[in-house]
Amino acid sequence: MLPYSHQSINERDAQAVVETLYSDWLTTGPKIREFEHAFARWVGAGEAVAVSSGTAALHATMHVLGIGPGDEVIVPALTFVASANCVVYQDATPIFADVDAETLLIDPKDVEAKITPRTRAIIAVDYAGQPCNYDALKEIACGRRSISLVADACHSLGARDGGRPAGTLADLNVFSLHPVKAMTTGEGGVVTTESFETAHRMRCFRNHGVTSDHFQREQQGSWLYEMVELGHNYRLSDVQCALGLSQLQRLADSIARRRAIACRYNEAFHHLAGVCPVQARPNVESAHHLYVVRLDLTCLSADRGKIFAALRAEGIGVNVHYLPVHLHPFYRRRFGLAPGYCPNAEAAYEKVLSLPLFPAMEERDVEDVIEAVWKVIGAYAVDTRAAVVAGSR
Ligand SMILES: *Cc1c(COP(=O)(O)O)cnc(C)c1O
Repeated sequence: MLPYSHQSINERDAQAVVETLYSDWLTTGPKIREFEHAFARWVGAGEAVAVSSGTAALHATMHVLGIGPGDEVIVPALTFVASANCVVYQDATPIFADVDAETLLIDPKDVEAKITPRTRAIIAVDYAGQPCNYDALKEIACGRRSISLVADACHSLGARDGGRPAGTLADLNVFSLHPVKAMTTGEGGVVTTESFETAHRMRCFRNHGVTSDHFQREQQGSWLYEMVELGHNYRLSDVQCALGLSQLQRLADSIARRRAIACRYNEAFHHLAGVCPVQARPNVESAHHLYVVRLDLTCLSADRGKIFAALRAEGIGVNVHYLPVHLHPFYRRRFGLAPGYCPNAEAAYEKVLSLPLFPAMEERDVEDVIEAVWKVIGAYAVDTRAAVVAGSR
């Protein structure tokens, strides 16, 4: 089965990890700073704070913004649960905004409609790899005092909007280094920001709320540490940072490869009635984390479940991103949410499929996916002519 995503690990990655394994510092050592500097430079951000996961990175942003009980944070409905869970960790309330039906990105108009006097932040999610409309979101946030803007950029590492890179588009920008993402440290996450002060507070938060770490105390020949607020152990280890440094060196190539595969898919499905790629925003260069197609169920005799199973039977490991967060049992129960609250996200959920897309795919894999999609969609096309119309692929 060809998976929808897969990490790429090479000999140099393995060497970097082994070297660090035999060094003095497995964690809290010099590789962390080295990785943070390299990551910040790659993205073009002032500061990068490395933590143990994308989820921990999201939690750190909610902590530094002082989100707490009684506060509301606006989150899109169509995302991974972690985008909203970080709000609940702080005993605050996530308010789900609907997505645009064509781009599947958070709809600024619905954000505007869901702002109340309790709104403290907006978490926008760069679904599938293209940055949200941060200019529109900033205008909404800036018009009102103390609404902060957070980018969940877990899909968009390497993307640009009008030339500006993901990681610099919001006050706080969150990345994940999970194996399915653009680059990996096994588990890991990063927050980028322009504020040194904010970065310092997040470095403290990832280390129990203590103001210095073991490496700094060793360097200063000091034993004293003070815990100034309640933090967590959200540290990324030096072993993981060594892998991250090595992965970062070919990140640009990986994203170029993703882009080439996405272009090939676009071209191959252009004339296939029944599948429709997610629409791109103008002036955006996507990082192509996911290749999402929306099935046109009006010209298919099967639902998404059947198409999903048929593609799996062809060895194509398609996936679905995502069941809208407000429809998960936890969110229904805790916040009294039900279908109908975010109609575009709910409608999208019925018809989205993510096709395999990762840099290590060979040409043959890409062509296998294309052939299987044509075969399965053709088999379920209501008007069989529709599927093969202008069928030169
Ligand atoms: C992967 C992902 C996360 C969480 O990242 P982890 O590193 O798995 O904790 C959060 N938000 C989105 C949109 C993601 O895709």
